[in-house]
Amino acid sequence: MKILVVDDAKTHLAYMEKTLSSLNHEILTATNGPDALKIFSASKPDLIILDVNMPDMDGFEVAKQIRNIEPEWIPIIFLSGIIDDKNIEKGIDAGGDDYLYKPSSEIAIAAKVKAMQRIYDIKNKLNFLSKTDALTGISNRFHFEMTIKKMIDEFKNTNSTFVLLFIDIDNFKMINDSFGHLIGDNLLKEVSKRLKFCLRIDDFVARMGGDEFSVILKDVEINDLLNVFIKKIRKVLSTPYHIGKNTFCINTSIGVSCYPTDGTNESTLLQNADIAMYHAKTMGKNNFQFHSKLQSTQFKQKILLENELHFALERKEFSINYQSIYHLKNQQIVGIEALLRWNHPKHGILSPDLFIPIAEESGIILPISEWIFEEICKQAREWSLDKIPHFKLSFNVSPLQLLNKNTPDIFERCIKENNLPVHLFEAELTETILISHETFSQKVIDQLHKLGMNFAVDDFGTGYSSFSHLKTFPIRTIKIDKFFIKYVTSNVKDAAIVETIIQLGKRMHLNIIAEGIETEEQLNYLIKCGCIEGQGMLLSPPLSADKMSILLEKIRVES
Ligand code: C2E
Ligand code: CA
Ligand code: CA
Repeated sequence: MKILVVDDAKTHLAYMEKTLSSLNHEILTATNGPDALKIFSASKPDLIILDVNMPDMDGFEVAKQIRNIEPEWIPIIFLSGIIDDKNIEKGIDAGGDDYLYKPSSEIAIAAKVKAMQRIYDIKNKLNFLSKTDALTGISNRFHFEMTIKKMIDEFKNTNSTFVLLFIDIDNFKMINDSFGHLIGDNLLKEVSKRLKFCLRIDDFVARMGGDEFSVILKDVEINDLLNVFIKKIRKVLSTPYHIGKNTFCINTSIGVSCYPTDGTNESTLLQNADIAMYHAKTMGKNNFQFHSKLQSTQFKQKILLENELHFALERKEFSINYQSIYHLKNQQIVGIEALLRWNHPKHGILSPDLFIPIAEESGIILPISEWIFEEICKQAREWSLDKIPHFKLSFNVSPLQLLNKNTPDIFERCIKENNLPVHLFEAELTETILISHETFSQKVIDQLHKLGMNFAVDDFGTGYSSFSHLKTFPIRTIKIDKFFIKYVTSNVKDAAIVETIIQLGKRMHLNIIAEGIETEEQLNYLIKCGCIEGQGMLLSPPLSADKMSILLEKIRVES
């Protein structure tokens, strides 16, 4: 240990120095209080042995001042000729830990120091453990927060900057769930090692919990060099991992915030790096994003909407619009598509594109979807849609519904309660649903198919467009995405895609619906290509239930 001995009696000081040196300690000495404080600040000893009786500043005062300047506990032993109750009380109040008679035998001194050393070692160990992540051995969140606070204190009055990276492993849960926690743990250990390997000595890395890591890069600014550096980290982390008999590849999403531009306290900096990381995730994962004000506002808006979504159902803020689907040649209505609307108390009618992704992410889409299906069944009963020959009621299905084993039961119950034929319904699924959870969603789709439900592939051509699912899933209809229709008369490539989809549909005996028809030219073109059905503003916009009632009356009267 490094021991500071303070005593104004020079012979005793020399005796202490000799005794402690022979026990292999490193000794610093001072003969008065002010010198002791100076040496303490300059060289941070592990133990202080402090004479009580000294002129000017006594040992108690020195101890008090040391406790004031140093946040960490450093053991202090007082030296005194008299150790009575009054002295002991004063010593403890001043922040001392123990007493040693002056003079004491070498053995007594050695024993006291040894005892102190044991306590000191235990304390160091605890200190280390409290700052260390048990799994990976790198710093933990607590140490990270302490470090960043300390850095902000240091950097406050300088022009220095530092950068915070918030790193999250993409799809780590999948590895953990499918290969087991042991493999997951080993992967995290390896990631920590590689991260440490990438960094400079002055940089700091911590595991924040789960598969999240944080890095502090000192004296770095947002510039090209930082870009290069982050790319390097990402490359090192994405090199294959060999764990047991398996080889894994991982990607990372990284959010970046910079002190002081993105925050001047640790929680704001961390939150902003986290938001940027989240942004990286929404950009399709496997990339990095710098924090921006816009992101923060969008993020806050999103959180707000998510909260409000929780109450929207019970507050009856949802309604359903219906858009007619036409037979393009004879302009007859052959079906309607149910489209959700949220009448937000502050923002008015919100488009589903804005809130459905949020509802999906938080799972609220499930109760909402159940409500939608109940509602359209009631409406279908009221309108007696089953009495219109070959009519179809289309509705949009969220991926989560196909992952929920209760979905077929919910549909069956609503359909039966309203005494409707199942074949009236056409469930619109996106290609992404069909691909991403193939085996599980196949089960739910099979069950629904057995009930007699029809299926359409929505937004065809925008997903991964693997044609194989047209074969494996019981699909009746393909809906050509409105994005292709938009340019079908002006862009030869879009025209080629649309024509090909229509041909494909014909060959496979599938029904084709073109979405988003807005102009006569588009309509004529589609008819020319042999497209049978379509919907869009030109034909009819989505209508409220009341307006749809009127339209349906008209159809009945005309037919
Ligand atoms: P989608 O299924 O592709 O629905 C067609 C969208 O095109 C609707 O947008 C409709 O209002 C809009 N539209 C209709 N005619 C035209 C047109 O001529 N031009 C253009 N540019 N657009 C037209 P909406 O109602 O805003 O819905 C957006 C998306 O939200 C839907 O796209 C669907 O994916 C989703 N969605 C809507 N309702 C539901 C629902 O009840 N459940 C679920 N899970 N998703 C829904
Ligand atoms: Ca749709
Ligand atoms: Ca669509």
